[in-house]
Amino acid sequence: MKNIYLDFAASTPADPGVIRAMLPYFDSIFANTSSKHTAGREARAAIEKARETIASFLGAMPEEIVFTSGGTESNNYAIKGFVRAIPGGRGHIITSSIEHPAVSKPCRTLEKEGFSVTYLPVDRYGMVDPDDLKRSINTSTRLISIMHANNEFGTIQPIEAIAKIACEHGVAMHTDAVQTFAHLPFTIGTMGVDMLSVSAHKFYGPKGVGFLYIKKGTPLVSLIEGGNQEMGRRASTSNVPGIVGMGKAVEQAVERMGTEIHDLIALRDRLISGIAGSVSGSSLNGHPLKRLPNNVNVTIKGIPGDEILSEMDAAGICCSAGAACKSSVNEAAGSHQGRDGGPSEKDAALRFSLGRPTTAEEIDYTVNILARTVDSLRSRKKL
Ligand SMILES: *Cc1c(COP(=O)(O)O)cnc(C)c1O
Repeated sequence: MKNIYLDFAASTPADPGVIRAMLPYFDSIFANTSSKHTAGREARAAIEKARETIASFLGAMPEEIVFTSGGTESNNYAIKGFVRAIPGGRGHIITSSIEHPAVSKPCRTLEKEGFSVTYLPVDRYGMVDPDDLKRSINTSTRLISIMHANNEFGTIQPIEAIAKIACEHGVAMHTDAVQTFAHLPFTIGTMGVDMLSVSAHKFYGPKGVGFLYIKKGTPLVSLIEGGNQEMGRRASTSNVPGIVGMGKAVEQAVERMGTEIHDLIALRDRLISGIAGSVSGSSLNGHPLKRLPNNVNVTIKGIPGDEILSEMDAAGICCSAGAACKSSVNEAAGSHQGRDGGPSEKDAALRFSLGRPTTAEEIDYTVNILARTVDSLRSRKKL
């Protein structure tokens, strides 16, 4: 049976070179980075080298990079850490209705603590309107958190324009860049944000490690208190193998990014046009052009997502699915339960996310299997 993995947005395999770079740090250079002996200093040097690699790629200063346990912690730290540093403990936060739960749930929590939160809607392509954002800023707005690219339907947000508005109004700006860092070329200078979240396992690094970029001078209250690691901002013994692996994954991304983006876009568009040409009742979700190079998300009319998913899985294809009406773009764009002709509970939103190992043969096979699966599930329903 085939084994085709098209769920790279959920997680990527660690690159063999990343694993090789990590190995010595499990048993040979294993000392605590806080220890004041040669072995400790050696471990410490390894994480500082990774910090410099990451900072230079991002166009940041090393001391602006704080290592965390991943994207979820980075988002929590950025949002809760920032607003809890506000004197008086009150204020207004602007976010979007399509954020990852690692942003939306902290925002809900802060609402219960007395902050007010605006959840900006998106258009039918899943895009936030910067003018809309500008209008929702008021005198008590303290923080804007808008993701760089959406993990479900791949739309890339106009972060530079949004960050510019934030800056003009003296409001701090955070972005969840978990789906874009080391995938798309950008620097902190072009992006213009104050905080940026990253996770290593989304770009061929290990799981359980990431970082938060924090612009110098941005006040944050620590979420994890204890030792003095990470300049006193994030306690706990440093995850040396993880951090070294993440640094290596960034080095590899720098080398490969140029060709990789073009290869992925070609495969993505092959999958999009393949599905459009051979799967009846299908339509693309997200923005047709301003989308992640590796993301394909389609609505399939009349078949629940979990039914397609299990058939695809049985054919050896790993992808991901949700109910089209619940996929955040449609929810945020205001189409509910098919009332207005929009997707209903019975429609699937299927996500295929491509990666380095993806081939044209895999794409063609996937299109064939999907077309057959949809036909057979539809004819079964008619019986
Ligand atoms: C995966 C993901 C996260 C969570 O990152 P973890 O390292 O798995 O905690 C946050 N935001 C986005 C957009 C993601 O895709």
